[in-house]
Amino acid sequence: MAQDTEPTLFDTDTLAETAGDTGARIEALRREIEHNSYLYYAEDNPAISDAAFDSLMRELRTLEAAHPEFYDPNSPTQRVGGYVGDQFAPVTHAARMYSIDDAMGLEELSVWIDRTFDTLGRTVDLCCELKIDGSGIALTYEDGRLVRAATRGDGTTGEDVTVNIRTIKDVPLRLREGAAADLTEGDEAFELRGEVYMPKKSFETLNAAAEAQGKQGFANARNAAAGSLRQKDASITAHRNLSTFIYATARNDQFKLTGQWELLEWLRRAGFHVNPDVALCHSKDEVLDFCRAVGEKRGSLPYDIDGVVVKVNDFATQDAMGFTARAPRWAIAYKFPPEEKTTLLRDITVQVGRTGALTPVAELVPVRVSGSVVARATLHNEDEVHRKDVRVGDTVIVRKAGDVIPEILGPVRELRPPQAEVWHMPATCPSCGSPVVHEEGEAVARCVSIDCPAQARERLVHWASRDAMDIEGLGDEVIGRLLAAERVVDVADYYNLTEYDLATLDMGRVTKDGEAIHLGGVVAKKIMAQLEESKTRGLARVLFGLGIRHVGKTTAAALAKAFPTMEALQKASVDDLAAVDGVGQVIAESIHVFMRTPQNIEVIDRLAHLGVSMAEATAADARPQTLSGLTFVLTGSLVKSGMTRGEAGDALKAMGAKVTGSVSKKTSCVVAGEAAGSKYDKAVALGVPVIDEDAFLAILDTGEPPAGLSAE
Ligand code: NAD
Repeated sequence: MAQDTEPTLFDTDTLAETAGDTGARIEALRREIEHNSYLYYAEDNPAISDAAFDSLMRELRTLEAAHPEFYDPNSPTQRVGGYVGDQFAPVTHAARMYSIDDAMGLEELSVWIDRTFDTLGRTVDLCCELKIDGSGIALTYEDGRLVRAATRGDGTTGEDVTVNIRTIKDVPLRLREGAAADLTEGDEAFELRGEVYMPKKSFETLNAAAEAQGKQGFANARNAAAGSLRQKDASITAHRNLSTFIYATARNDQFKLTGQWELLEWLRRAGFHVNPDVALCHSKDEVLDFCRAVGEKRGSLPYDIDGVVVKVNDFATQDAMGFTARAPRWAIAYKFPPEEKTTLLRDITVQVGRTGALTPVAELVPVRVSGSVVARATLHNEDEVHRKDVRVGDTVIVRKAGDVIPEILGPVRELRPPQAEVWHMPATCPSCGSPVVHEEGEAVARCVSIDCPAQARERLVHWASRDAMDIEGLGDEVIGRLLAAERVVDVADYYNLTEYDLATLDMGRVTKDGEAIHLGGVVAKKIMAQLEESKTRGLARVLFGLGIRHVGKTTAAALAKAFPTMEALQKASVDDLAAVDGVGQVIAESIHVFMRTPQNIEVIDRLAHLGVSMAEATAADARPQTLSGLTFVLTGSLVKSGMTRGEAGDALKAMGAKVTGSVSKKTSCVVAGEAAGSKYDKAVALGVPVIDEDAFLAILDTGEPPAGLSAE
């Protein structure tokens, strides 16, 4: 599973080298993190996602660890993130409210657990709880009654939000009877901690209402909860449908409890809302299983969570382990692998496609996103590069669109190096040096040279691809080597390859002993068989495989249906083509130009000559096999349909017929076109039925065998 391998791939050397001055980078990161913390905590209106924020924080932590000379106690890595405004009275917490260090993915969590067990010299029970994505609160009770509620603030001082908290229905204003018996001093004041959150449903309703009034909603449920809690007018908070989960005390020594698990039970008994999804785990595997299970059901929970908090259960052990400047050593927040990361844009290169389209590609410092390493991402076209305003040297936010295709969301502008320049599409093709053309109304720039080697390569790759001729074994690498060895130039050359050519193909690599590696006989045999099979894929795939501009799979199929042979298609006018369903003027013109370009005509002729079927529906199952068991011979020329004998034969074969070259007693029927020769005479002599082109076309049309003949 992707979550199992989630190391952060920040390579500090590469970053320092790419980012230039390490000290300046560290300083810029600190400023950027502080700025975003302010937007998040003070304004409840973040400008970037939590994942992107965490990614910047991790880069800073990595750089600070590698360069202790830049240590600064005021760095955001050394402090609890938060904000204390002057809207509310300040409240000093009974004990500091800490942050929690995080483990990105199961691998880091596993490392943390191992290290904890090692440090302690034994395994200990670990209490696992959902990490509620809300806003931390501290509740103070005196004589069993709620007297004060405060936000986390900067960890030491919070904001007094007592009136607002009182409006939240699940916060007990008074402890349930009997709960006080577990307090060491009976009736003394104590502070509890938990999370205020907004259920997903309430968040959606709130944002929908804001939208209806033309107002901007909250970025997420966490910010909605924090914003709702910090309202000057508590009646607004009351209508926001907030809830709480309570999970900690400020001072465990005030309770006759030995660990976190017992505390959760006590909180329940005392009347607090305690999250039911908890587990007391006795081994690392149990913790990892719990985290996996939570990851799977995360989406179906009625509130947002951003991970699992794993805590050493026993209070005495927690005390022995203590705290760092910003977090307890006895707890870790396992965070689900984020879908967004930040990394550096090293370069923007230009890729030449098979139709000459020039695509800018982002070359990134490799970063793991949603379980796989991303080093490149398309930027689509020059307009898109400008719209996103990404520049070489930028720190960019990367995510996986649909969890598959990496996408650059945009730059973190404040981290831009001063020398970063606006990117422009080069004036000449990076592959062949021809001038780049910008067609009117098109965002895409093109190399229109017919001889561009990069286009040639892409065309070769496309022909062999699964949706085209589906030639297994002919992948990027083999094609690259065939080109390097000048064995192929265009797609027709594939069908001139011999098994020997392939088997002896130098793969450009050497064995440990320095011997050149060749493709080898086994693979060569397979590719030859695949090439042979590809000859019968039919016209639609050939059309798609040729890579005609604007002709995708669906258009190719529609064309092959309307013009069942290549020759018919080649003869079609722009209007004929435009009349096909789904083919407009632009596509029709593109096909028309393609079919009249001498180089293309030559490739098509060679393909046909080398046995690649240029008729549709040669696949055995494409048409009902109404002619199976019948043997046809073709003679003369089919002037009405303009079909070659090869194409006519293909069309008959597609319906199950056998087509042979000479007439015998076994021949079922002879198709005689104009100027039929000796085969016609022989058929008459042997009494074999002869039909003309009209009757032949009727067979193709109706699928019915000629009169008097029937299939097996
Ligand atoms: P944190 O929120 O990741 O972890 C600590 C907090 O988790 C605790 O204070 C507590 O309130 C909460 N928590 C939830 N369930 C808990 C449980 N069962 N047990 C214990 N604690 C539990 O760390 P942080 O330092 O408080 O805040 C950083 C978070 O805020 C990150 O997720 C970060 O992405 C986000 N943030 C985002 C931006 C932004 O611009 N998007 C800016 C600043 C911070």
